[in-house]
Amino acid sequence: MTSLSAPELDKLIRASLTYRDRAYAPYSKFRVGAALLTADGQIFGGCNVENASYGAGICAERTAVVKAVSEGQNKFIAVAVSSDVPSPTTSPCGICRQFLREFLSPEVPIYFVSSQYPSEQPSWLNSLDGDEAKNFVVKMSMEELLPNSFGPDNLGIEGPK
Ligand SMILES: [Zn+2]
Repeated sequence: MTSLSAPELDKLIRASLTYRDRAYAPYSKFRVGAALLTADGQIFGGCNVENASYGAGICAERTAVVKAVSEGQNKFIAVAVSSDVPSPTTSPCGICRQFLREFLSPEVPIYFVSSQYPSEQPSWLNSLDGDEAKNFVVKMSMEELLPNSFGPDNLGIEGPK
């Protein structure tokens, strides 16, 4: 699984928290932010956007992907997802896992972030294996999140370029 440098990861995590703050979630009150990093260092973010017609709402992860793709970016090297939950357990829903899978290689890391992420870049960010780090950030790969998945290759399509 690829790893970001600590400053890159810190920036991506903070972006997800900023987008979380913009969530429009008056119904669930469950605010989520997502941030995608492109190979050339750009960050595209999104928040969940709910609707009085509940089914019309969209998750943060899909908002971020739709924003990026419509701006001409469709390859991502890392994703961060955050919410207001203190434990780093907010992971993409099933629909979003499938949606992300279209644009993420199997090894791309997806970071689940605690709402209590420190305001200064923490020293443990270089290695997320330590006990303290596990209170704030959990890293999984796209493949781990959605094993045996169905994607463009199953339809003979090369996928995003
Ligand atoms: Zn979702």
